[in-house]
Amino acid sequence: MYNIIGSGIAGLACSYVLSNFDVKNEIFESGDQKIANQYGIQLSPNASNVLQKMGILSKLESHIKIINNIEIYSIEKLKKLTTLPVNRFINKNNLTNYYTASRDILHKELLSNVIASKTKINYDSKIKKIEDLGDKIQIIKENKTISSGKKLIIANGNSSSPIFDRISCSPIANDFMTYRSAVKVHELPIKISADTIYLFLGKGMHIVMYPYFEDLINIVMITKNNKDAVIQKNKQNIDKGIYSFLSAQDWHSWSLYDSKITLNLDTSRPIFAIGDAAHSIKPHLAQGASMALEDAFTLGKSIGEKNTVESVHYAMNMRKKRIDRVIRNSSLNRQIFHAPPIISVFRDFFLEKTNGLGQLDNLKWLYDYKV
Ligand SMILES: Cc1cc2nc3c(=O)[nH]c(=O)nc-3n(C[C@H](O)[C@H](O)[C@H](O)COP(=O)(O)OP(=O)(O)OC[C@H]3O[C@@H](n4cnc5c(N)ncnc54)[C@H](O)[C@@H]3O)c2cc1C
Repeated sequence: MYNIIGSGIAGLACSYVLSNFDVKNEIFESGDQKIANQYGIQLSPNASNVLQKMGILSKLESHIKIINNIEIYSIEKLKKLTTLPVNRFINKNNLTNYYTASRDILHKELLSNVIASKTKINYDSKIKKIEDLGDKIQIIKENKTISSGKKLIIANGNSSSPIFDRISCSPIANDFMTYRSAVKVHELPIKISADTIYLFLGKGMHIVMYPYFEDLINIVMITKNNKDAVIQKNKQNIDKGIYSFLSAQDWHSWSLYDSKITLNLDTSRPIFAIGDAAHSIKPHLAQGASMALEDAFTLGKSIGEKNTVESVHYAMNMRKKRIDRVIRNSSLNRQIFHAPPIISVFRDFFLEKTNGLGQLDNLKWLYDYKV
């Protein structure tokens, strides 16, 4: 019997994989059962491959969008720099599709499978501390009640307050802000295709925009410093319609702080960490949830196949090289997306000359990955 802390993408996916191997598990979640995130998420081929292996991709398919292209623009005068032909890359390598989805739909599908497996989910159970006492693992809740068990999976996301002393998290200050909004397609000041993710690069800012559910468009804007100053800085060069649209949006915003997570887990103990609880990935490659799904599947399968505790830790440690590469590439994308003005001229020039398919080929190691 495994206790799982957190019912985000990682916790729910791992619970479901374990149940499919008849490994009993129980979830502790700090929130309630309400799902209130109407935003979108990109599911690249490595993530859709995991969902397919879990047997839930076909159930999601009628509610999610297939992405055939990623188009990169300079926000200045809306100049197209390049197109990444995702569909050609997928066909060439025989991969599962690149999708965008509503986070709610993905969460609901995972949750309904966990419920159908008769797994108990304890809501309103914020865990304050984990204590490994050797013969048992104590889970101490915020209200001081204690549950104990023998095996544990930590999937409580990127939390600033660590719950287990073998996982350390050091916040690294930066001045990036994230702004998120969702609009109906007819509210956009520009025409967009239903199968395309748009990346707009500006001075000190970038915007990612994509259709994700029915006629809704997800918009994420990441700026260095406060958005008003950044939008103002870009004002002379941005199309007037876009400028008024960005200024008028009702943004949900938060500071995008970095953190360095170090896992020092005892490989003789059945305590594992997955998803954002185990690593911090900048959103500039859209891989956080995809890595959470890969982690969850690898861990669930390795436990389900009745490997020894040491072998399960070994399987998870083998993921480290891949995760580190994703972290490095996300950091590099951040530098490219937020290049200072002079360097951004070279960046745009390079992107215009670049072969989009070649760019995707460079990411084959990421997208063509089978758990
Ligand atoms: C702007 C932005 C855009 C992104 N876009 C993408 C994208 O397009 N594609 C992609 O792959 N990734 C994306 N990501 C990353 C992705 O959202 C995360 O990596 C992913 O949600 C991590 O899943 P998780 O299950 O590990 O953590 P979470 O989703 O954070 O889930 C953790 C769960 O644990 C619960 N919890 C927390 N603390 C406790 C506690 N103490 N006790 C009990 N329960 C607790 C929480 O309530 C939550 O339910 C994006 C991130 C950002 C910021």
